[in-house]
Amino acid sequence: MGAVPSDLEIAQAATLRPTSDIGAVLDLGVDDLEPYGRHAAKVELEAVGARRPAGKYVVVTAVTPTPLGEGKTTTAVGLVQGLGRLGKRATAVLRQPSLGPVFGIKGGAAGAGWSQIVPMETMNLHLTGDFHAVTAAHNLLAAMLDNHLQHGNALGIAAHSITWGRVLDMNDRALRNIIVGLGGRLDGVPRQARFDITAASEVMTILALSTSLTDLRQRLGRIVVGYTGEGAPVTAEDLKAAGAMAVLLKDAVRPNLLQTLEGQPALIHCGPFGNIATGNSSIVADHVGLSRSDIVVTEAGFGADLGYERFVNVKCRTSGFVPDAAVVVVTVRALKVHSGRFKVVAGKPLPPELLEENPDDVAAGLSNLAHHLDIVAGTGVPAVVAINAFPDDHASEHAVIARFAHQRGVPCAVSTHVADGGAGATALARTVLEATEAGTHLRYTYELDVPLTDKIEALATKVYGAASVDYAPAAASELKRLTDLGFGGLPVLIAKTHLSTTATPADRGAPKGWTLPIREVRLAAGAGYVYVLSGQMQTMPGLGSHPAAERMDLAEDGRIVGLF
Ligand code: ADP
Ligand code: MG
Repeated sequence: MGAVPSDLEIAQAATLRPTSDIGAVLDLGVDDLEPYGRHAAKVELEAVGARRPAGKYVVVTAVTPTPLGEGKTTTAVGLVQGLGRLGKRATAVLRQPSLGPVFGIKGGAAGAGWSQIVPMETMNLHLTGDFHAVTAAHNLLAAMLDNHLQHGNALGIAAHSITWGRVLDMNDRALRNIIVGLGGRLDGVPRQARFDITAASEVMTILALSTSLTDLRQRLGRIVVGYTGEGAPVTAEDLKAAGAMAVLLKDAVRPNLLQTLEGQPALIHCGPFGNIATGNSSIVADHVGLSRSDIVVTEAGFGADLGYERFVNVKCRTSGFVPDAAVVVVTVRALKVHSGRFKVVAGKPLPPELLEENPDDVAAGLSNLAHHLDIVAGTGVPAVVAINAFPDDHASEHAVIARFAHQRGVPCAVSTHVADGGAGATALARTVLEATEAGTHLRYTYELDVPLTDKIEALATKVYGAASVDYAPAAASELKRLTDLGFGGLPVLIAKTHLSTTATPADRGAPKGWTLPIREVRLAAGAGYVYVLSGQMQTMPGLGSHPAAERMDLAEDGRIVGLF
């Protein structure tokens, strides 16, 4: 072990509490838990709805992500540990990591340093198999669809209109565009098809947004797989697939109980993509935490323009839960990057000047933080700025951020949870507790009964800072078609780059007055939203020239090495 232990070394050296003890914190008895190995368990569904959600609800969001890692997950875990030090019963609710990124790029999704979810190997690899169940349910529908075409296509599905692909929990670009049904007459109907990563499956978002088994079953039935020659939607219910899909998901619907490094409950459940899906963990897991602990800390993916906006307009609107505070994570390095004065590339060494003490560079990036604070303010939720401290930060640089937050009247705390665990997050924990007392007047960005174009324009202008929206002709006609088909009352997700506040990934700061292009429109009727693409969105990532998998191995004693 080197001077600074790796995340994996810290996690492997930890002494874990028995799952039954973690369950007891949530007042879950042996009958409420189904153990998976020694340190993970599924929470039985009977325990989910049994109590009223009464705890405080805190969501962790951030400034625009940079390749350097802003630390929403570490801050969420650190905050739970800090709240624990203050004697609060706090629960972390997080997404399950996808195998694609785990083996693709360095950096897991279980936290870092002394603020991690353990066992981190279990969290990062398979967990209790939920992603595989989502994969199976998704692909069952694909198989039944192709089988329907093979056996005479009684529903009259137009092959070119099929929107339902197949999924796999792997970064595998070779599967993005495929041809199925090659061979002879008995080998299926040939057509072009595709694979997405499992996190991009509509089934994943359905699982995350379902409020009960009945709701799950109905949402699965509403999935639209394509259209008939006359343009009528064909659903999973029409294909008689939804019941069997629900069967495959019967265990995946239950949240997984793990723990923080300091022994608090962590509910790990679902992992919808942050670009074309909601980017938030499940409503069911939040319900368990909110009904059985003092305070739930959950994370919304990417910056506040994406995950947080969807957290409010889709997840909270569905669950009815009202957040008591939003923590906006910021780092000195991210603001330096948002100043536009540095060029950083994922996987490449940082420019040394970036690490030098320079409060002016930090100040030059504050417009990005201001933008994300405006988004939170627009929803009526009290905000807290969390400065996630890195070892090479300087006090003068933290002071720039703290002064700015103070001027805006937003409480702010520096947190050293990665280096110090919960002890480094008590100031943040106190600040967050205080903020949750202020009271939320939750405001959605748009109401559901307005036209789809009004919803898009509300998001573009109120959340992104655009001045106008430009619709490609095909997108405009598809919005009209979906409205005519009765889908106009759904919420809208805009799939835009997460790398800037605009639709142009290279933009820095928070430019205003630009035009949001809408190129394509898609429907997720089961998950319950329409999503529009403002740029090229990759739903099946590829691997880099040296994937993280190259550094992993299994030691002779069965220990995993090289998992970051
Ligand atoms: P996010 O949830 O915002 O994507 P994570 O919390 O997963 O970010 O952090 C991403 C990575 O950044 C971590 O795996 C870790 O390597 C690094 N990181 C985050 N915060 C810190 C910190 N305070 N000190 C050192 N490294 C950190
Ligand atoms: Mg994260």
